[in-house]
Amino acid sequence: MHAQPPASHYINGQYIEDTKGEKIAVMYPANGEVIAEIHAATPDIIEQALVSAQAAQKVWAEYSATERGRVLRCAADIMRQCNDLLSEIETLDTGKPIQETLVADATSGADALEYFGGLAASITGEYIPLGGNFAYTIRQPLGVCVGIGAWNYPTQIACWKGAPALACGNSMIFKPSETTPLSALKVAEILTEAGAPDGLYNVIQGMGEVGHALVSDPRVAKVSLTGSVPTGKKVYATAAQGMKHVTMELGGKSPLIIFDDADIENAVSGAILANFYSSGQVCSNGTRVFVHKNIREKFIARLTARLENIIIGDPLDPKTNFGPMASAKQRAIVLDYIRKGIDEGATLVCGGHAIENSGYFIQPTVFSDVTDDMTIAREEIFGPVLSVLEFSDEEEVIRRANATEFGLAAGVFTQDLTRAHRIAAKFAAGTCYINTYNIAPVEAPFGGSKASGIGRENSKAAVEHYTERKTVFVATSPVEAPF
Ligand code: NDP
Repeated sequence: MHAQPPASHYINGQYIEDTKGEKIAVMYPANGEVIAEIHAATPDIIEQALVSAQAAQKVWAEYSATERGRVLRCAADIMRQCNDLLSEIETLDTGKPIQETLVADATSGADALEYFGGLAASITGEYIPLGGNFAYTIRQPLGVCVGIGAWNYPTQIACWKGAPALACGNSMIFKPSETTPLSALKVAEILTEAGAPDGLYNVIQGMGEVGHALVSDPRVAKVSLTGSVPTGKKVYATAAQGMKHVTMELGGKSPLIIFDDADIENAVSGAILANFYSSGQVCSNGTRVFVHKNIREKFIARLTARLENIIIGDPLDPKTNFGPMASAKQRAIVLDYIRKGIDEGATLVCGGHAIENSGYFIQPTVFSDVTDDMTIAREEIFGPVLSVLEFSDEEEVIRRANATEFGLAAGVFTQDLTRAHRIAAKFAAGTCYINTYNIAPVEAPFGGSKASGIGRENSKAAVEHYTERKTVFVATSPVEAPF
């Protein structure tokens, strides 16, 4: 298997290599085979990316917004035309089943490019009458933006950050996770093909140090990170030294509440989407599933029956609907959490083990009798581990659902409309779901509160995070001075 890119980095409209950088082997998580070898960015590569992004941003900001939008929409079209190829790269890079990547990765990246391409020309300031005098605002781009990605949705993250940044007249340097470095290079190639000026969207590889070098560089105006809370705290602190703008899309431990009036089959579907899609490697997953005591047995029975339909196998096989963890490291982390769940007294309903083959597979795992104080109910696992917690009344479950440092997402399944909205209003989370879970269309804001993040991606809300307003006061009569 082979997915070697022409070179490690994409700078100033072309691939570029510097073999002096640390070697990074890219593995196909389904069998551990090395599919590509790349090199981390050296200081020279980082410098080239910064210089070209700075120059390109000046050129790009002079384009009319309609022209900028046209480039992004063209990139969206190319992404859709290349969906098969991009999905295969995403599958090789992450191990996610091709059944998923064909509909959720390049397609969602294309949606972002199309949406922000369409929005570009409507990003304007406002006129403020001041009784004869007036003021107006100009929405200015920030300058060079840095995007840093996690490994679960590398194509989507590269586009969710790039599309709004570019639509607003910024340039971007994107650093993918070193676990999944391949797809962002394709996004950069496609933007060049669509007519983006050289240097507008650069991709450089490497570990945390490369991200840190970018975040601490004074030429960078904004940082958008998708990653864990500990990394978010570090990156936020570094960005603060330069008073830079930040967007932080971080981890979660989201609650999913299922009332006894819910349609059980629908709620089980929601819980499956909330825990096992992408083998559980989704930031917004509803991993604390609070089930009303009256339906607990029935819910667990239906859930375990439905899990028997999972098809675990080679992610490139279109029939496979459950793949491996993205890395051996992540598999070890998840197995450690499963052991803690057992040790702390949760009941293992199903799964709980690695699957013995050469890939990084873990069985879909369900725990019941989970209590709020257990490690598996408090910490983000980022794997296919669902915890069932029992509850009996609304006030109690809301209090327990919100009793976490995280606040990324939350969901409720109930047929009672007034209760659903009452609960959504009380959830301490940035993204809430009623009778559904884990959808993130580009039209709606997405992001977390509390430790789960700052700022919002997608929708018009993202424009706030990639522009700043300049206010211009205009007098239409002589200045009145006191002396
Ligand atoms: P990490 O936090 O480990 O890494 C995120 C990115 O930050 C990586 O590219 C990493 O580089 C880089 N990085 C690490 N240290 C620094 C530093 N000091 N300065 C700058 N950059 C740095 O996250 P994972 O890749 O393990 O992804 C999983 C996490 O991402 C989970 O917590 C998940 O919830 C979260 N996530 C959040 C989403 C959201 O939208 N809210 C969506 C998807 C995931 P490298 O790893 O290459 O060393």
